[in-house]
Amino acid sequence: MHEMSLMESVIEIVCDTARQNGAARVKSVRLDVGVLSHVEPDALMFCYEAVRHGTIADEATLEINRIAGEGWCLDCGKTVALEERFGACPDCGRHRVQLTAGDELKIRDMEVS
Ligand SMILES: [Zn+2]
Repeated sequence: MHEMSLMESVIEIVCDTARQNGAARVKSVRLDVGVLSHVEPDALMFCYEAVRHGTIADEATLEINRIAGEGWCLDCGKTVALEERFGACPDCGRHRVQLTAGDELKIRDMEVS
């Protein structure tokens, strides 16, 4: 389960950032998770509960913000919605679409005290 190592690095970054800012506790963390990324929000939540123990974020809430899939169609020359990673353009039906959003997993923001 690669969600576990992902959340380990998330917690590490969150705790390091909090300490660098002189915070004693982390209150909440918000993640941007693209719908086309290969991670399950439920699995992320589960792993988060496991990895936050014993850290300054052990009571921090986790919010997962889903980012819709989006790509740039080379044929239409515009941004289109993408349902799958190598999906076709909904307008012209061709597959010359470059993924521009929806596969991210990053920390959006966090609250400390
Ligand atoms: Zn197109």
